[in-house]
Amino acid sequence: METSARIQKWFAENGRDLPWRHTRDPYRIWVSEIILQQTRIEQGTDYYHRFLQQYPTLSALQQTDETTLLRLWQGLGYYSRALTMLKAARACSGAFPDRYDDLIGLPGIGDYTASAISSFASGECRAAVDGNVQRIIARLYDLEEPVDKPAGAKSIKMLADELLDRRHPGNHNQAMMDFGALQCVPRNPDCHQCPLQAQCLAYARGTVGERPVKLGKTKQRKRCFHYLDLQAGHTRFLRQRPEGDIWTGLYEFFLIESDEPLTSESIRQALGSDRFEIGRQSKTYRHVLSHQQIYADFTVILLPGGEAAPPGMVAIGPEALDSYPLSRLTLRYLQDSLQ
Ligand code: SF4
Repeated sequence: METSARIQKWFAENGRDLPWRHTRDPYRIWVSEIILQQTRIEQGTDYYHRFLQQYPTLSALQQTDETTLLRLWQGLGYYSRALTMLKAARACSGAFPDRYDDLIGLPGIGDYTASAISSFASGECRAAVDGNVQRIIARLYDLEEPVDKPAGAKSIKMLADELLDRRHPGNHNQAMMDFGALQCVPRNPDCHQCPLQAQCLAYARGTVGERPVKLGKTKQRKRCFHYLDLQAGHTRFLRQRPEGDIWTGLYEFFLIESDEPLTSESIRQALGSDRFEIGRQSKTYRHVLSHQQIYADFTVILLPGGEAAPPGMVAIGPEALDSYPLSRLTLRYLQDSLQ
């Protein structure tokens, strides 16, 4: 039995029954693919349902605004994905495409996503190569080339194309993804129960634990955030994060980013005023993102009543806080401050 047939047989017996596998609608498949990037299946499934409830069609998504979309996305992380989705939706005229060549030009859609959508939705012969597929192939062929470098990625893509079942490309791609997620897992795969054991070169050579070869992650950048939770009576102040940094479009408290500790002088300089009182200060939160480690504290700053919102900030009442998209870090602080 050829390799793909073995994997598809394994998939028929062990594959996951995921909601987006019951549709050939390219819009729904796209939504699932974007949500599932960097997200666990359980969490992603919940967001997938909520997303489609709010935006059941492409035109519903096209008509939304960034803040409403980010509010729905809140907690899922990697917020630029949501904003890029909106750009892609608005770049579509007519229906959401189901062919690789029409998909690949859209914002946020690279080779993997275009291959996945086109093979699932229209049966186009495209091998979708994600981290799971990379791992399976690197082990099957015992590749020594680093898969995170162009030459290694090219070899993987070529081999993935050779493996593709041209009669059932969509099923083949789904089977590969599940096989990587459940059977040929990153650490200690159960090779004794594997239907590919006889043809797996890494198994034969005892190199499973060393494949795939990766040259390593980029170093994490450390950042120190001092947030000022400005309060004037029951009013608080938020501002929207700019483009070109983490959490684009989300709202947050007044931020002083500095490696130096916060002092009343640094607050005075940042606010351009000395009409304030320093209130409660939070613990330091450590918040880890893919390439950054954030150390953040939040200090309540009491402003005199009737104070105008500092430039660039919106004044909000206590009930309205809930309607703004906030980072998980800010939500952690807010939850702690309620206790
Ligand atoms: S034998 Fe082990 S390493 Fe090889 S494909 Fe199967 S699970 Fe993966």
